[in-house]
Amino acid sequence: MAKGEFNGENNLSKVLHMSSGGGESSYAQNSSRQSSVFKSMQPSFNRLIQSLPLPNIGGLLRIADMGCANGMNTVSEVDFVVTTIKKLCSKRGLSIPPLQVFFNDLPCNDFNGLFMLLNALKPDYMAAGVPGSFYQALFPHGTINICFSIMALHWLSQVPEGVGNEGSCVYNRGKIWINGGRAEVARAYAEQSQKDLREFFRSRGEEMASGGVMFICAMGRPNGVNAEQQVTSEGEYCGPDFEAAWDDLISEEIVKAETRDSFNLPWYFPNADEMREAVEASGAFEIVKLEVCSGVCCMGEGEFEEWVRDVECFGKKKARLVRSFVGSLVEDAIGIENCNALFERMERRSNEMLEKGLLRPSRFVPCIVAALVRK
Ligand code: SAH
Repeated sequence: MAKGEFNGENNLSKVLHMSSGGGESSYAQNSSRQSSVFKSMQPSFNRLIQSLPLPNIGGLLRIADMGCANGMNTVSEVDFVVTTIKKLCSKRGLSIPPLQVFFNDLPCNDFNGLFMLLNALKPDYMAAGVPGSFYQALFPHGTINICFSIMALHWLSQVPEGVGNEGSCVYNRGKIWINGGRAEVARAYAEQSQKDLREFFRSRGEEMASGGVMFICAMGRPNGVNAEQQVTSEGEYCGPDFEAAWDDLISEEIVKAETRDSFNLPWYFPNADEMREAVEASGAFEIVKLEVCSGVCCMGEGEFEEWVRDVECFGKKKARLVRSFVGSLVEDAIGIENCNALFERMERRSNEMLEKGLLRPSRFVPCIVAALVRK
């Protein structure tokens, strides 16, 4: 595989992982936003679990976490589900069935870290790791009762064909993603996302037991907003500060422009219509709720105020955050030393842009939320 070309699902599977371990740029140290998003979603998830057809589940309850990563988020999301089920059983006067939890992620995920954490915490469910893309079959038919995926379904299975190839009509010249880019390129991403989401719901439709519940929360965008306008808040994620850092590496002749142009993020933030289309194509689910919430809180007020007040600290934290989830892809494309240089430039650019008022960070992110029941 050529460096940085994640065309083809297997290639992305060989590279992508959230930064492992517990260091300053690790996913575990930089995932408090995902955890805040999950907390604000708990009431809807709780309501959905109440509709589970207990006790008719056959004496064993199987839970699947799709795109689990590693760290306390992973564990606490599952804990929430397990606690909710236990309360539900005791409310209905039922004994608690044995609970089996499947942790799914791509093979490069830090499963060992997760298993060590589970070993230390000794949870009262049986755990299993399921390596592989959730855009393919992963479980035997009709076996999963609760399936959830938190902040993962905006990752595509691959960068769409042609986007990184000079000469193709969807070559993404001068950019590393579609935000603020050309409509044709964004269309290629939208098509890839639709193909992936359909595969996700088709596979889960087969694997879930009738009456099983599915809860999804991922980055999303409001209906009516063009696909090339993926991010509403300029201060977020891989925005202008990240792009400016790439420009710096090019002007300093550390990285060639073509290298940047062939690097593209495999992300697409779908709107509610796009996700609905994919769910309906499977024919397997009843939609209880499917909407984009524009104001999902990803950070506490105090933490946010502190973050944006300290201009020095802002860039450092922002660069670490972005590195925690795209670092593995960047390292694959330009090597670790240049990756270090990129995130140093990003730190500087983020600070500079914040000071000049060019970034508008927000503590709310638009998320797509879906609550589904397997027919
Ligand atoms: N659910 C966790 C992790 C979110 S980060 C939390 O709430 O904190 C997104 C995760 O999705 C990453 O670990 C990434 O490796 C995983 N992921 C991305 N694409 C995937 C795919 N095709 N199949 C399985 N996991 C995937």
